[in-house]
Amino acid sequence: MPDDAVFPGQTARGLTDGIRTGAHAAREITKTALAHIQRTDLNAFITIDEEGALKAADVVDQKAAAGAPLGPLAGIPIALKDVLCTKGLRTTCASKILANFIPPYDATAVTRLRRADAIILGKLNMDEFAMGSSSENSHFGAVKNPRDPTRVTGGSSGGSAAAVAADQAFMTLGSDTGGSIRLPASFCGVVGLKPTYGRVSRYGLIAYASSLDQIGPFARSVEDAALLLRVIAGHDPRDSTSARVPVPDYPSACQKGVEGLTIGLPEEFFGEGLQPDVRHAVMQGVEILEKNGACIREISLPIAGHPSYAIAAYYIVATAEASSNLSRYDGVKYGFRDEAKNLIDMYVQTRSKGFGAEVKRRIMLGTYALSAGYYDAYYRKAQQVRTLICRDFARAYETCDLIASPVSPTPAFKLGEKLRDPLQMYLSDIYTVSVNLAGIPGISVPCGTSPAGLPIGLQLLGDAFAEETILRAAAVVERELA
Ligand code: GLN
Repeated sequence: MPDDAVFPGQTARGLTDGIRTGAHAAREITKTALAHIQRTDLNAFITIDEEGALKAADVVDQKAAAGAPLGPLAGIPIALKDVLCTKGLRTTCASKILANFIPPYDATAVTRLRRADAIILGKLNMDEFAMGSSSENSHFGAVKNPRDPTRVTGGSSGGSAAAVAADQAFMTLGSDTGGSIRLPASFCGVVGLKPTYGRVSRYGLIAYASSLDQIGPFARSVEDAALLLRVIAGHDPRDSTSARVPVPDYPSACQKGVEGLTIGLPEEFFGEGLQPDVRHAVMQGVEILEKNGACIREISLPIAGHPSYAIAAYYIVATAEASSNLSRYDGVKYGFRDEAKNLIDMYVQTRSKGFGAEVKRRIMLGTYALSAGYYDAYYRKAQQVRTLICRDFARAYETCDLIASPVSPTPAFKLGEKLRDPLQMYLSDIYTVSVNLAGIPGISVPCGTSPAGLPIGLQLLGDAFAEETILRAAAVVERELA
């Protein structure tokens, strides 16, 4: 399905250079992308903003014709996970409860894209409120994997990964609370990066679990992901958790190689449950890094790598925060309302009919974990485990620069395969959730395919704000496998 001919030029930089010199017109590129979206229906988009996109493209073309300076993403067709607020453009979070919500403002990441002269094509399908691992929990139907339409894209940013893999958008944004960028990137064979907590402003990102959520890029190449990250990263006074840390020149890190880096392989991430095909592809990626001068060593992450701790702590912390964050959808302030005889009934009917089954499950789990009498047994204990997970990673980074592992134990599974078994679904995130609990950055970069031709991603994790080191290694793997 991927067809490089859809976009002239292989890299974002090539495309903007072409627009700058007049070799390409942003309007033509945008029209091509819009037509391609219609031709390749994967249910990746919830809303297509043809009018807004063409208008933005015309502005870029006028600037280029006048010789005015162009932003670093000039004319690049980009699409956004529908969890990011876009002024005047419907933002649904793939939920019935927000199906008609039109935000009065842009998320900071979106403002930064517009300022960089990107073209925003529309809003992408996802699991409702970013809760899921397959992009099947959507009020708008499941997203199909472009590599095999009978399979899931992974979730929750499934539309973001599928749109890039199918060439519907040049790059996209997603969000990652427990793996939602890395898992779909791995299942669809594209690059997906979850930045350090605080690296990208969460202002205008509809909250799922606020201490875990981060916005990050999807792209066809590591360098494009680096460019997109550079545009959206940096402190924002509107998000008190965004970090006052300078933003490096991420794209140039992609040229630096891995000579002298030490890469740790956590034994817990290569144990029982990992499919041999996945292990084989991941080890192929690791061997490439070794061949290029990295030193590989075995490490241990006894708590962070232990499914009974990591998955359990994550699903308590995430659902507890979600139960609080989602209390704002009451039929009064936003979106869907079910009229009823009295106020209490209205709340009950609105929330019962407006939320899907998985979202309701999470609200109930989280409310339970926070309730009097259970708080100490569940929530407090989960937070203590979280501290131990952070210590595990801190200890690992005393002896290595990066950690390498699989993203998920299996390649993309069949649509419907895990829908009736939430626990099986939660286990898809076994190698990703501890990363969010620790707040550190991680990437999924393609490292091979299964015998059935399904993509497999290599996860590379760095210490806080070490995105550059991750990009260096990911670029090496990508170059060797090209
Ligand atoms: N699959 C995980 C969950 O359902 C992670 C989702 C995410 O990162 N948004 O919570």
